[in-house]
Amino acid sequence: MLRVEDLSIQYGGIRAVRGISFTVEKGKITALIGNNGAGKSSTLKAISNLVTPAQGRIVFEGRDITGLRPEKIARDIGIIHIPEGRHVFPELTVRENLLISFSSRTVSKREFMSEMQAVFERFPVLEQRQKQSAGTLSGGEQQILAIARGVLQKPYLLILDEPSMGLAPLIVEEVFEIIREINRGGVTVFLVEQNAQMALSTADTGYVLESGEIILQGSAEALMEDPQVKKIYLGEE
Ligand code: ATP
Repeated sequence: MLRVEDLSIQYGGIRAVRGISFTVEKGKITALIGNNGAGKSSTLKAISNLVTPAQGRIVFEGRDITGLRPEKIARDIGIIHIPEGRHVFPELTVRENLLISFSSRTVSKREFMSEMQAVFERFPVLEQRQKQSAGTLSGGEQQILAIARGVLQKPYLLILDEPSMGLAPLIVEEVFEIIREINRGGVTVFLVEQNAQMALSTADTGYVLESGEIILQGSAEALMEDPQVKKIYLGEE
């Protein structure tokens, strides 16, 4: 579905990403794991064109989308990016945060009602808290809200930047179960994570990014058995 070819990202003198290539297969969950500063967020931002690559191409379903405006990538191509740190609007209520997802689409009142109802059925915590300002939600609830907003934008490809960040282990499990469920519903997922254990146990395929380069790739299962991954990323001897 997505092919990233020879991508390099440079910030002044810093080469954050160094000529990486990878693919995201349709219908699957693909994970990009790596430590702090490896270049994971930069890679996602290049896909959404929130940073301009120094070099490389982003190809989605055979179409070169490199340089397409970010709002077109979201609205017309259907690549929805849930950024690190979630970025909900803290002063707005949960419901208002959800309403914003409709601003780039034309829907009838009936469609709107049924989509809101579906979101509340899928994420009951958001229905309970729909009148609460989003800034007062727990970290996990904010992540669920950010994901729900993404779902309302009808993605073909959902890209998530560290969905586990700052969350307690039990909530991380819940958030990843939601991600698996969205994927089972037909949405392709590409996620970046420092939490290699969670990412690889969820994904079909994985890539390991270190200092801007892909050093390992394979099925998530094989990566979990890789001695280097075990030692450095899973904390096993
Ligand atoms: P983290 O998990 O900590 O978010 P990451 O793997 O997502 O890390 P990036 O955020 O992509 O890594 O950063 C890669 C490198 O690029 C880092 O050295 C970072 O300091 C640098 N960098 C990222 N954004 C910018 C920027 N806007 N200006 C300058 N340097 C940047």
